[in-house]
Amino acid sequence: MKAAAEAKADQSPPKRGRKCPICGKPTDPDNSPFCSRRCAQVDLHRWLSGTYVIPGREEDGTGTPREEEN
Ligand SMILES: [Zn+2]
Repeated sequence: MKAAAEAKADQSPPKRGRKCPICGKPTDPDNSPFCSRRCAQVDLHRWLSGTYVIPGREEDGTGTPREEEN
């Protein structure tokens, strides 16, 4: 009779809780592990720029990946 409980638990996807490493939003399956293509590009850009591991360095004004909220 345990099987019933386990089967019920299996209905939940095991990947829950994943968040975009860039902005912390829930990831989008199409852009995993990011929430959007933009964040994926931001991450890629950081890697290519070699600034990924250097904290405290923000992008300058051009193309700042920040979403405007109302
Ligand atoms: Zn994101």
